[in-house]
Amino acid sequence: MKITRLLAYQVDLPLREGSYNWSGGKSVSVFDSTVVRIETDAGLAGHGEVCPLGPSYLPSYAGGVRAGLAELFPHLLGEDPLAMGPLNRLMEQRLKGHPYVKSAIDIACWDLLGQASGLPVATLLGGRDGDSVELYRAISQDEPKRMAEKVALYRAEGYRKFQLKVGGEPDTDIARIKAVAAELRTGDVLVADANTGWLPHQAARVVRAVDALDVYIEQPCLSYEECLSIRRRTGHPFVLDESVDSIPMLLRAHADQAMDVVNIKISKLGGLTPARQVRDLCVAMGIAMTIEDSWGGDITTAAIAHLAHSTPERFRFSATDFNSYVTVPIADGAPARVRGRMAASERPGLGVTPIMGALGAPVLSFASGAPAPTRSGR
Ligand code: MG
Repeated sequence: MKITRLLAYQVDLPLREGSYNWSGGKSVSVFDSTVVRIETDAGLAGHGEVCPLGPSYLPSYAGGVRAGLAELFPHLLGEDPLAMGPLNRLMEQRLKGHPYVKSAIDIACWDLLGQASGLPVATLLGGRDGDSVELYRAISQDEPKRMAEKVALYRAEGYRKFQLKVGGEPDTDIARIKAVAAELRTGDVLVADANTGWLPHQAARVVRAVDALDVYIEQPCLSYEECLSIRRRTGHPFVLDESVDSIPMLLRAHADQAMDVVNIKISKLGGLTPARQVRDLCVAMGIAMTIEDSWGGDITTAAIAHLAHSTPERFRFSATDFNSYVTVPIADGAPARVRGRMAASERPGLGVTPIMGALGAPVLSFASGAPAPTRSGR
């Protein structure tokens, strides 16, 4: 099979709740997502999606996705999309780093592999484990009372895991954690995610102030070393997210016993191929995982569902259904949340069909034999 045409589409994904707020006053109200379509000489087309959490969360931004794709697309024409080892090595040779740019291409190739073999991506990634995947609900940063009120609302939607966005002023964060913890019922799980927002002295105060509460602490500080110092002075179960962006970092953190749970974001690592490697290492080393991405719509949610559903249930801490946070559907067949859980499609590939009307005209299009590539839009 050969790649004959590569296209990219830009799509705005407004948030159902108006805005999503996290540490350091960061906020997004409309997510800027990019969908990649890879067409082949076999008549099959695969799709992937990448959506940074704004331009200041990870070292990635929506305009960078499209600039990077314009750089990579011409080199991929004529390549075999099913040979993902050579294809990922070729992408690394042509564009060093920028894993988030490669993520949507890699996901689209897995979609093609699934369609070509007649198998769901979850089967190719190791096989579905269990009936469905438990989801968490992020609680956007707000006044403590308003965040606490969200718990009952989200529990009514079926969620039992709540990820509180903290990483702000320590006294307010302590009040946020206490207010939300007071709403918990047996079986609920609370994670306080600072998203790198605290300095070590602030994090030390917060973890001591909530010492008696049943709460996980996620990525309290910016650097790995700072997080490790907090990990060593708290008994709370500990999650690392932003710091674990590669296999060497995962191995180092495991050797330091720096976390109990790792957050795997598909685009942070560069697609399903590297995310699966990290996932399998975590299983081998006994580390539970949250499986998700930085953000996204239906196609990202489908990719998450396949990776999460093929992860042994015992190691699945949680996953995210981003498509239920946003207002715009971009694909049919995407996972739908049922009682706080979702399942990977049993159809071949990702099991999604893009809604071309929602994607609009392509902003990038590179085809074999075409006189010149077309680029338009942002
Ligand atoms: Mg996190």
